[in-house]
Amino acid sequence: MPFTTDLPPLNYIDGQWVRPASTAAIEMICPSDGHVIGQIARGGAEDIDAAVAAARRAFEGEWGRTTATERGRLLSRLGLAILANQEELAQLEANDTGKPLKLARSDVIATARYFEYYGGAADKLHGDTIPFLDGYQVMIVREPRGVTGHIIPWNYPAQMFGRTLGAALATGNATVLKPAEEACLSIVRLTQLAAEVGIPAGAINLVTGYGEEAGAALASHAGIDFLSFTGSPEVGTLIQKSAADNHVPCVLELGGKSPQLVFEDADLDKALPVVINAIIQNAGQTCSAGSRVLVQRSIYEKVVSALAARMNAVRVGPHEADLDCGPLISKVQHGRVMGFLERARKDGIPVIGEGRIDERASKNGFFVKPTLLGPVPLSHELAFEEVFGPVLVVIPFDDESDAVRIANGTEYGLIAGVWSENGARQIRVAKKLRVGQVYVNGYGAGGGIELPFGGFKRSGHGREKGFEALREYTVAKTIVLNHG
Ligand code: NAD
Repeated sequence: MPFTTDLPPLNYIDGQWVRPASTAAIEMICPSDGHVIGQIARGGAEDIDAAVAAARRAFEGEWGRTTATERGRLLSRLGLAILANQEELAQLEANDTGKPLKLARSDVIATARYFEYYGGAADKLHGDTIPFLDGYQVMIVREPRGVTGHIIPWNYPAQMFGRTLGAALATGNATVLKPAEEACLSIVRLTQLAAEVGIPAGAINLVTGYGEEAGAALASHAGIDFLSFTGSPEVGTLIQKSAADNHVPCVLELGGKSPQLVFEDADLDKALPVVINAIIQNAGQTCSAGSRVLVQRSIYEKVVSALAARMNAVRVGPHEADLDCGPLISKVQHGRVMGFLERARKDGIPVIGEGRIDERASKNGFFVKPTLLGPVPLSHELAFEEVFGPVLVVIPFDDESDAVRIANGTEYGLIAGVWSENGARQIRVAKKLRVGQVYVNGYGAGGGIELPFGGFKRSGHGREKGFEALREYTVAKTIVLNHG
């Protein structure tokens, strides 16, 4: 019996589940076998108008009057409600995205953790005082931005919900969320849970639909005070231009071509399983996927043959088979990734390792063999373009400065991994890399909800996650008191 859900194709506006103005719905497809698992509302500009107006009322009304402690308590309750419903949410997420069930399960726990973290942090953001002229007292208070818009992608829908709304709600903003049309059923369910735990009407408004319709309407809305976008650099550029028309500031979390630097003094037993995992997790559809491995020439052959053996052992299959890797999200994404592999073949780039597609994989699923290629010349698209699929390229380097030059040599700058047992080198290289996060002898570190995350260059600007996001979702107001 194929999985289906009866979650309603409705938007959530002002505390009510409502039909979109168009009354239309979008079918949600399971990437593992192509069957329809449910529907979401096809929201548009009118629904976004209603959602922004509801958020404004909430911000100026009941929600705006909550104390930080009350908000923290509500978010903590939502975290507990997510844990209480974790298996149902994980099934939804796995069927909607095609990711292996074990990954969906850990995503749901991470989603709960966002609300636990931001629930606890809500009343810990302090203001400041500044020594000033005689007879004056200066206070810096941090105030919420107001109505915040959130546009997010399909790769980790539940986690993105937690990441972007956790910090915004903790700091007292009223939110309008437009998730991705490819996968967002878990978000509909999470919004139901938010209502059940008592988050007041208008604090969270959910409008589902297409990017060019609901997304564009939100990004260009004059009624929002701040915009958070996670997605592709191309759409990020459009978003920033729309927001600029209304002088709306934004945080942009965009793509990556993240390098892992393997030096000749690295502990290879520790490094190589992590290097492979960093590209096959979520079938490489992770902004921070480690998609380039830079290897010192003196150990190149040894590393390549060990990586190839590991890649050949990777097994791909439908989400319920719970293998190393699931399908890609859609036919479009499948075509994109296959295009990269096809062009690499024509360009004579050697394939040095390839995972195996399990016999349980349906012909209607969007499966790709995880692939290791190299050596890839720096001039080839695979050395600098984001594939957003399970494709790992190997690039040799001569010495430390060569490694840093190659690592910094793309338009992206999201995260990086440094593998070396030399302490001085670890910190020297970490400081030279133009990326938002550097992991030394590790990569990704359990999702790192507590750790500020964001890019340099084409990977975006601003920071989500950790305490830093609380600053992002607030503004400093200076109050100068003359008591002289
Ligand atoms: P995308 O940019 O196509 O879509 C992201 C969101 O933007 C979706 O909700 C979509 O509906 C919306 N959108 C699309 N067109 C729009 C428009 N014209 N106006 C307003 N909204 C619009 O990206 P994607 O294909 O869903 O996701 C993949 C990309 O996201 C990759 O580049 C990846 O690296 C990046 N990503 C980054 C992070 C991060 O935190 N840095 C996390 C996940 C994904």
